[in-house]
Amino acid sequence: MSRFFSEKYKNLVPYTPGEQPKTRQYIKLNTNESPFPPSEKAIEYAAEAARNLQLYPDPECRRLTEAVAERLGVSFDEVLLTNGSDEILNFAFMAFCDDTHPAAFADITYGFYSVFAEINGVPYTKIPLAEDFTIRVEDYYDLGKTIFIANPNAPTGIALTRNQIEEILRRNPDTVVVVDEAYVDFGTESCVPLIRKYDNLLVSQTFSKSRSMAGARLGFGVGCPALIRDLNTIKYSTNPYNINAMTMAAGIGVMEDEEYTQANCQTIMDNREYTAAELAKMGFTLTDSRTNFVFARHPDVDGGAIYRALKERGILVRHFDSARIADYNRITIGTREQMDTLIETLRTILEENI
Ligand code: PMP
Repeated sequence: MSRFFSEKYKNLVPYTPGEQPKTRQYIKLNTNESPFPPSEKAIEYAAEAARNLQLYPDPECRRLTEAVAERLGVSFDEVLLTNGSDEILNFAFMAFCDDTHPAAFADITYGFYSVFAEINGVPYTKIPLAEDFTIRVEDYYDLGKTIFIANPNAPTGIALTRNQIEEILRRNPDTVVVVDEAYVDFGTESCVPLIRKYDNLLVSQTFSKSRSMAGARLGFGVGCPALIRDLNTIKYSTNPYNINAMTMAAGIGVMEDEEYTQANCQTIMDNREYTAAELAKMGFTLTDSRTNFVFARHPDVDGGAIYRALKERGILVRHFDSARIADYNRITIGTREQMDTLIETLRTILEENI
């Protein structure tokens, strides 16, 4: 730390992204990226946009916002595109949380929520998940706090139904409820259809997972026009050009190629069910994941040991050291070939360890 670093950040513990190793060719199942390349249209439009990089991008992000709004069945003024969904989540902490509106989220959930709370000086409460890692909906009633719910949750993969989320919205009419739908395209009901009924609902989604664009950094928020206006105030006060021109063009390309996205999601869901069944046969316990990853532990082998043994053999998965989930590994769903390699490798590791 330099002697110039602001007092207010000196205890900040930044978010730790998953490893992106360059030294060795790993089968990368650690950051929930798609195993499939982006849509050809996305690549083509981004290349075309590169010819005009001397110009600033459209700060309104009009064409892409219209395309996203149309796909979701909402209006232009109900959507805000951001630099990954991380940015819309940070904007939500900035816009809707303070000392009188502290934040609340699960004890086991996306690790960035507490970092966003810390950097914005927002007090927060962690609400413990039940023993089986499900969210107890009643714990979220009448909280008087800005609520952040990843649905499906990460890293557990477990989803609430839209009705359950609606109950939380109904019981918190005077505070914002943010539903982070980063993994919604792998088999969960979206809450977007509720935005006209609840003026306190903000839904976030991303192009990073189902749309194979993690490297482009594109996400968005959906909510009533007043919420979106507030978030725009934050955007225009930090970075009006938050989406670069190539990403914007790629986003339009992928929106025009919905069949490709749908087909990839279906393949990933099929591979997830296949992987889950194979791991269960080996004695793993798994959560009911509705995402592009599984969350698994083995009764006989320590989670950290499995992580290290896989890494030695060229497969990267994500292991979290936190107490309640240290036995588990989060394994991104890749191609069928990658999953077969993973399954074979785990079999070998278990034979050696038991
Ligand atoms: N929410 C959840 C639950 C996530 O797991 C992630 C991915 N790390 C994000 C949001 C952010 O993704 P991105 O910024 O790539 O849209």
